[in-house]
Amino acid sequence: MILPIVAYGDPVLRKVAVDIDKEYPAFNTLLENMWETMYNASGVGLAAPQIGLPIRLFLVDTTPFSDDEDLTEEEQKALNGFKKVFINAYIEEETGEEWGFNEGCLSIPDIREDVFRKETITISYMDEEFNSHKETYSGLLARVIQHEYDHIEGILFTDKLSSLKKRLIKSRLANISKGKIRVDYRMRFPNMKKAR
Ligand SMILES: [Zn+2]
Repeated sequence: MILPIVAYGDPVLRKVAVDIDKEYPAFNTLLENMWETMYNASGVGLAAPQIGLPIRLFLVDTTPFSDDEDLTEEEQKALNGFKKVFINAYIEEETGEEWGFNEGCLSIPDIREDVFRKETITISYMDEEFNSHKETYSGLLARVIQHEYDHIEGILFTDKLSSLKKRLIKSRLANISKGKIRVDYRMRFPNMKKAR
């Protein structure tokens, strides 16, 4: 089932999400629905707060990035088929130089901006069977994980822009929260005026 994606301005996107355990109700159905919702919107990641659940869960599938000709063959290989569920994730370390990449977000349609993040992360998390892992990622893989991880910390990529950039996009963000935007996937807008 395709779930509506929560738009910018909804308070659920600002919550620090909480850990879950194996007993989380209808967990496998939730995962199925989140994958379906993400692919339907052509996303490379989706975090639970974006479908209205403030829990530490996000999905990533970087395959669409793997045919980018600017990448090395090795990078393309790493991105192709990198499909993972991250539960109760915590970034343990971020290292390396900050680098810019043009990011977008399913909750903030039509806005894309360069965001600077560190090159390498070490993250602890559980997979969909609730087995624990601790792994290190770099480059675009790290980038996608960092963006989704921010969602479970209540942070959006627009928070990381310069104050000038923030001023420039302010009215567009307000329009998104009111539903004054054309988008080709299901969304839920926090400040949409109800039709009488
Ligand atoms: Zn996002």
